[in-house]
Amino acid sequence: MERSYSNFMNIGILGGGQLGRMLGLAGYPLGFRFRCFDTTPDAVAGHVMPLTVGSFDDLEALQAFAEGLDVLTYEFENVPTWAVEFLATHVNVHPSPLALSISQDRIEEKTFFQSMGVPTALFLPVNTREELDTAVDQLGMPCVIKTCRLGYDGKGQFVIRSRDDAEAAWQTLQGNPLILEQYVTFDRELSIIAVRSTTGDKKFYSLVQNFHEGGILRKTLAPASNVSAALQQQAEDFADMAMHGLEYSGVLAIEFFQVGEKLVVNEMAPRVHNSGHWTIEGACTSQFENHLRAICGLPLGNTRVQGSVGMINLIGSVPALEKIMSEPCCQNEKVSIHLYGKEPKPGRKIGHVTIVSAHDEKRDEIMRQIG
Ligand code: AMP
Repeated sequence: MERSYSNFMNIGILGGGQLGRMLGLAGYPLGFRFRCFDTTPDAVAGHVMPLTVGSFDDLEALQAFAEGLDVLTYEFENVPTWAVEFLATHVNVHPSPLALSISQDRIEEKTFFQSMGVPTALFLPVNTREELDTAVDQLGMPCVIKTCRLGYDGKGQFVIRSRDDAEAAWQTLQGNPLILEQYVTFDRELSIIAVRSTTGDKKFYSLVQNFHEGGILRKTLAPASNVSAALQQQAEDFADMAMHGLEYSGVLAIEFFQVGEKLVVNEMAPRVHNSGHWTIEGACTSQFENHLRAICGLPLGNTRVQGSVGMINLIGSVPALEKIMSEPCCQNEKVSIHLYGKEPKPGRKIGHVTIVSAHDEKRDEIMRQIG
């Protein structure tokens, strides 16, 4: 059932990290009201909206949280599927619980894409030491071993280049359901942010290029350079098929390996995504606002890129921001700092900086200065 727009729409968010916080910050100007649910009192979305601290196993607490909500969404894909399925019997939940459950398991996710004819890395499930040896023989080295579930930012995965690597990876990962993937020799890593409203309206942002360090996203360039119309179309077609198959509403992010003029899906995220943070200042409408519009059945905003845009994640510690802040904003450049209010810790994403310029060269120069 479509709801009519009210600027008193009450939106609940499962998860209270920076993504939830940025959803709130994007939605307050539209009059939305927010609350979030997280397992920890330190959850930083709690700085900008009421936070309920509880366990995702506590159905009573979840039901109380959902009381009076118009729509519920999630900002973190390791929310247990059963909790979301339970809540879907009380309140409209977007994106669909199906999207969440498929994205939680790398084998299900790759099988889903392959069932639509969308290319992924070749893979085999691995549950025993013998299966690992057989899978390494079949796929060849190098290959990548990953936990099927609960892996993020490169955690729970190893590249296998030798029998010794296979043994070392096994020692660390055994006991978890595993997937062995063929190593994709890619030209670069790209991603697309797509969005589909409950009304069926859909839009796509330009493909962006991502740079990872130690498995963590470090930088995004938007738009990715030298993207042919055919490559952009390929990405949009794959995202469109996925959104259709998942009866999807909201923002969907898909990460790709580019191999020549072909895209190979690495993974999807059924939520707003780090490779879309640039859209806050760098696109006509941010991924956060479009996610909210989509789950509320409102018209989607224009997704056009507003210049040469770069995003740098601040990981582990805050650089000398005074220097960046004291740079006068000249006519063609804007540098925007986002800090999430998180305690700095090694490997932790604590903020990001977005640079919007009229020229790639100037953007790249500023990005080099920041790090
Ligand atoms: P993931 O956790 O699947 O996003 O993987 C983290 C990063 O590891 C990716 O962004 C790639 O840089 C690299 N990677 C993961 N899987 C593969 C693969 N099958 N072939 C080559 N590189 C990979």
